[in-house]
Amino acid sequence: MESTAPPCNGLVPVPCLEDLVDRDKTHDCSGFGPSHICVRVDAVAELPTRFGRFRIVAFWNNRDGKEHVALVHGDVMGHEDVPTRLHSECLTGDALGSLRCDCRDQLETALRSLAKMERGLLLYLRQEGRGIGLRNKVRAYQLQDNGLDTVEANRALGFRDDERDYGVAAHMVASLNVKSVRLMTNNPNKIQQLEKNGIKVSGRIPHVMPANEFNRFYLQTKALRSGHYLELEGKELELLPEQDDPPVVETSRAT
Ligand SMILES: [Zn+2]
Ligand SMILES: [Zn+2]
Repeated sequence: MESTAPPCNGLVPVPCLEDLVDRDKTHDCSGFGPSHICVRVDAVAELPTRFGRFRIVAFWNNRDGKEHVALVHGDVMGHEDVPTRLHSECLTGDALGSLRCDCRDQLETALRSLAKMERGLLLYLRQEGRGIGLRNKVRAYQLQDNGLDTVEANRALGFRDDERDYGVAAHMVASLNVKSVRLMTNNPNKIQQLEKNGIKVSGRIPHVMPANEFNRFYLQTKALRSGHYLELEGKELELLPEQDDPPVVETSRAT
């Protein structure tokens, strides 16, 4: 896999994650990606979660007020092949349990898997509704409620420039002094985009949702759809692929 050199070599290694805050105080580079995004590590704290122990790293960036975070499990700094998942924020799915998408299941599955590994990294990217924001996402939902099909509604959601987001993600990985990542994804394009932004991707981990969780989610969705919640005017709502990452579901165990 070809990868271009990162545009910044001022990210000196430091012994502890917490030391990144001091290191980055004066950091200012020409930026990653077409939008020249530069990020700084702003704060690091413990974050025990229901999925396992993580530390949370908050980033400042020079482009907008978006507060991206990284969840770090184990020791990732200076390491190769760090299992890494990029997750795009979805308030309705992640926090409110919406069944219009499967973002929450994708997020939970990723955090559970990463917490079981020796080390792992999840970048939680604040690009709600594929980058168009929460209000536009709800507008697209409204269009769908009013009869647009999934493709049309997707088009309403789909005017995000992907490049911009991979620049942020790439700089975040570089800031954490992660040497190379094994990307947890079912989307080969994501790997290419990250590599274009100077990150070494040493492999891919299929992002497979366990059968039991999927069954619960799927059955729940079905139950709701066959009721009167998600079926509107005789039209079933379909899941919107907000994560740019087609879900793969484990239907039978290989072992
Ligand atoms: Zn920078
Ligand atoms: Zn979602």
